[in-house]
Amino acid sequence: MGNRVTLAFLGAANTVTGSRYLIEVDDRRVLVDCGLFQGYKHLRERNWKPFPVDPGTIEAVFLTHAHLDHSGYLPRLVKDGFNGPIYCTQATRDLCKILLADSAHLQEEEAEYRNRHQYSKHQPALPLYTRQDAEKAMEQFEVVGFSSVADARAGESTATVTMGDIEASFYANGHILGSAFLDVHAGGRHILFSGDVGRSNDLIMRAPELPVSCDYLVIESTYGNRLHDNRDVWDVVSEIINDTVSAGGSVLIPTFAVGRAQAMLYLITELRQQGRIPYLPVFLDSPMAISATEVMLRHHRYHRLNKASCQQLSRDVTFARTVEDSIAINRVHVPAIILSASGMATGGRVLHHLQRMLGDHRNTVMFAGYQAPGTRGARLVGGEKKIKIFNRYHEVKARVECLDFLSAHADRLELLHWLQQMPAAPKRCFVTHGDEEAADQFRISIGEELGWDACVPDMGDKVKL
Ligand SMILES: [Zn+2]
Repeated sequence: MGNRVTLAFLGAANTVTGSRYLIEVDDRRVLVDCGLFQGYKHLRERNWKPFPVDPGTIEAVFLTHAHLDHSGYLPRLVKDGFNGPIYCTQATRDLCKILLADSAHLQEEEAEYRNRHQYSKHQPALPLYTRQDAEKAMEQFEVVGFSSVADARAGESTATVTMGDIEASFYANGHILGSAFLDVHAGGRHILFSGDVGRSNDLIMRAPELPVSCDYLVIESTYGNRLHDNRDVWDVVSEIINDTVSAGGSVLIPTFAVGRAQAMLYLITELRQQGRIPYLPVFLDSPMAISATEVMLRHHRYHRLNKASCQQLSRDVTFARTVEDSIAINRVHVPAIILSASGMATGGRVLHHLQRMLGDHRNTVMFAGYQAPGTRGARLVGGEKKIKIFNRYHEVKARVECLDFLSAHADRLELLHWLQQMPAAPKRCFVTHGDEEAADQFRISIGEELGWDACVPDMGDKVKL
């Protein structure tokens, strides 16, 4: 008699956030990813529901990468009694330290705001978790090295976590620094969790490793029904910067602190080095983006930049860590490039720069990625001429551009191409981490193009493997 093995989908089912997969082998439990639900209110409210199983009964968490929709619930899980190890790669641990602390800080701020304005049904409003909870969760992290597919295919040993008949290996998947797909053996079943799959032509991440074979596949589908526009980002960005500078203006780049900020910095310092744009001052004005950049510079084995490019980047960019450093940027009266968070201009220091720069037609605001509906970024990209910042309306005269073709996710064809390289067809595929339409279209594509059996699980579904 074999073991009874089940896989439960506790999040990222018909939606892109809240990745949480529970594997049960008889009475043992491990969790793959432990993400926050984000976005719409009905999704965020799920973060407040009790965890479906007692967190104290979970033996370990395996983490694919640091993004909060995969890691952001960890402090709460720990607070509610989970005391096992959290296995991930070194860079994922380093980024989680930055992201979880920031997430806790935002949770505390929101609770405080609700109490001040008496918005909450609960008195007093409490944060989902505190900075202290986030620090406590960090103590449970245990670092695992990347495995290499070449080694695995040659039958050589790989860096594997072994817990009796549950084993997991981490393979680089090119999405962000430290990100991995997971190869899990549990009670005699073989499951591959894709994590978020990157692209073969990313600015800084190396191409994803090829997938290993498995019986069951859990595959993301963020862009499962779309194709990325393959415009040459080097040409687009150099043109925008050169146009702006010849008009005598500066370029403001609202950017996500982790991943995109580092890619944009690399792009700009390279363009400057190659003489494709003038030698302008470049500022990185976001403490979190600076910390994430330092993590990248520390881990140059895991990305495309060599040591010389890393050194050039840290030499050529002014890091504005303190509030005084940030304010000092306002006194620079020559064209400059300023990168600041948040990426959709929903908060953070970038608002101060927007307030100062939007009214001047010579300046350009260049968003560094997709802008979600409802955000200030989306309104600017949509062409609104008056934008409210800190309770005051500002006229928009600056040029607004959006590099919405940049993405850290493989698109439909890139995902299919990646899967095609799996040595054998899995018995069954579970399509997750996509909105309803993307997940369903990708399920159909897997059936039609690869001939594999695929389904889209619903939230809370539990399947026997
Ligand atoms: Zn991600």
